Amino acid sequence: MKKLGGIVIFFILLSAGILVLHFYKPGPEPPEGKKTAVPSPPSTKTSPPLPPPAPTLPPPLPPPPLKTEAPARIAIIIDDLGFSAESARLVLSLEVPFTVSVLPFYPYSKKSAELARNSGKEVLLHIPMEPINTPDEAQPGKGVLISGSSPEEIGRQVGAELSELPFVSGVSSHMGSLFTTDSEGMRALFQVLHQQGLFFVDNLTTNKTVTKKVAGEVGLKYFQRNVFIDNVLSRDSIIQQLELAEKIARRKGQAIAVGHPHPETVSALKAWIPKAKAAGITFVRVSELFERKL
Ligand SMILES: [Zn+2]
Repeated sequence: MKKLGGIVIFFILLSAGILVLHFYKPGPEPPEGKKTAVPSPPSTKTSPPLPPPAPTLPPPLPPPPLKTEAPARIAIIIDDLGFSAESARLVLSLEVPFTVSVLPFYPYSKKSAELARNSGKEVLLHIPMEPINTPDEAQPGKGVLISGSSPEEIGRQVGAELSELPFVSGVSSHMGSLFTTDSEGMRALFQVLHQQGLFFVDNLTTNKTVTKKVAGEVGLKYFQRNVFIDNVLSRDSIIQQLELAEKIARRKGQAIAVGHPHPETVSALKAWIPKAKAAGITFVRVSELFERKL
């Protein structure tokens, strides 16, 4: 009996154990965070400020433009057209923008000016002006302005020359080592040019020219020649003078180079122009230059 009682107690305890295991439900699990969190001592400091968000980078800039040299512009003027159509055609075979200056009252004055205009070149009236007489100085030619003439006489003369070549953009001086020193005569000339909206190019045949002073008084736009390129008619000399003009243009930004309708001049220009263009020189008409108050 004792043995049986022990077996009964064993089974009762076993059943109780099974029941306990069956109905036991574990309590809710602690939140994940708390499970591993180690309690930290209360901090008296506030948490450090968050670093500012990294700025968004702007899109990459395009590469900077290639460094270019300062602009260097040369205005070529070919003076003394009007003697023949051939010389005009020879000059007009130059394939850059430039300016021609046509003497009035010669058999091919009108024709030369028209040829130049039709080929898109700029045309000036090349007004003969009285030189200081020297034994070997050439005559200034037809329509010359004489120093000491009355303003009316100068006005009439210039008006007649302008009506022969009515489509010119300006006027340049042919010779004039005396007339360009005559303030009264230059004032009369400049007043006509100002009324007609024309500019003046001084070929600087004397350092006593009054152009700057009188043009300032009248308010006339004017330019001054920098280099005569063909006083010596050899190709080497002409190229040297052109290189001088190039040097001036690089230093000052612009230069006026004046030549004449000689085959040597045209040939030297044709040899030099492509090199100058490749070296960054721009060829312009004289009216495109900045006026210089020298
Ligand atoms: Zn001339």
